[in-house]
Amino acid sequence: MDFKNKDTYFADLLAERGRPLVIAGPCSAESEQQVMQTAEALKKLNVHLFRAGIWKPRSRPNTFEGVGLQGLAWLARVKQELGMRVTTEVATGRHVEEALKQGIDVLWIGARTTVNPFAVQEIADALSGVNIPVMVKNPVNPDLALWIGAIERIYQAGITDLAAIHRGFSSYQPSKYRNAPVWQIPIELKARFQNLPVIVDPSHIGGTRDLIYPLSQRALDMGCDGVMIETHPNPAEALSDAEQQVTPATLADILSKLQVRKTNYDDAELVNRAEELRLKIDAADHDLIGALAQRMALVEQIGEYKKQNNVQVLQLERWKEIFRTRADWAAEAGINPAFVEELYKLIHVESIRKQTSIMQAGNPETKPNTEPEQAS
Ligand code: PEP
Ligand code: MN
Repeated sequence: MDFKNKDTYFADLLAERGRPLVIAGPCSAESEQQVMQTAEALKKLNVHLFRAGIWKPRSRPNTFEGVGLQGLAWLARVKQELGMRVTTEVATGRHVEEALKQGIDVLWIGARTTVNPFAVQEIADALSGVNIPVMVKNPVNPDLALWIGAIERIYQAGITDLAAIHRGFSSYQPSKYRNAPVWQIPIELKARFQNLPVIVDPSHIGGTRDLIYPLSQRALDMGCDGVMIETHPNPAEALSDAEQQVTPATLADILSKLQVRKTNYDDAELVNRAEELRLKIDAADHDLIGALAQRMALVEQIGEYKKQNNVQVLQLERWKEIFRTRADWAAEAGINPAFVEELYKLIHVESIRKQTSIMQAGNPETKPNTEPEQAS
């Protein structure tokens, strides 16, 4: 896929740099009055695009599933009376047709739809021959290939004016986030498609109002191109996502605090200093890998020893002791023990794999995993 860096809706907006792209509006359109009231407030903040969900994908039936078709007319009114661009979520071919009929400017595909190639293809078919910008949210599960696949389906329908929206990934682990950000996934997407704008949705990542500002700043620090922030005149009374919506006044405050950083060092002195530090980091990483190699050689020796003496690979007590002591050592050294625990989980998996392959020479299950991630 080849995305243009000018003469597209997103590229042209981004050309007026110094300001991230801002998409805002309620999670759901609830009434004509709520839509107009929110849009009027957001127009004053110069947001680029007004969002509102009309068809809401909900986990359980008998909850608020959106106002449906009538809401499209409210968005059309925002467009006509306030001159704002408007966007809504589409999940079926019929949604696309209805949204196009009402002159919606930009469409987005939601996380629950991106996971389903049949649904995305149906949307792509409905978009064939149409010229409209489309934003594709990541799938609910952390699967970059699935996200790219959905973008590809829309691209193949002839839509090249595309953006990705990072809204976090669901996870079984308890966490302060509603959807874990797993930043390496959007970063990898940016690395693969340099002109594809990546917009971050801190509302669905955070799930609570307090996290919107820090996540938005984080998004800009990661080089993302914009934010989508759910905004409601009275968030506590919202019919969906009440905890994560902010008032237009809070949005104004968040936007005024956001710092847009330079994309690069813009002075030779700064470049030199950064280069010096990078060289030191290179040397430190070299030492780190040397130390890992040393550790793995010892792991192999113990593996041989276990094999000779017919002792099982996993020694649970030893593992628990390693886990505990390394976390303590980390705390003493002033680094985050939780980070070191995660690191040791990886080291332990690799050590077990190595020793298992010594125990059972030729076991295909113990081949190192060097394949790049597989698409299915
Ligand atoms: C939304 O934007 O309101 C929405 C339903 O988001 P997601 O698809 O990210 O869950
Ligand atoms: Mn929402």
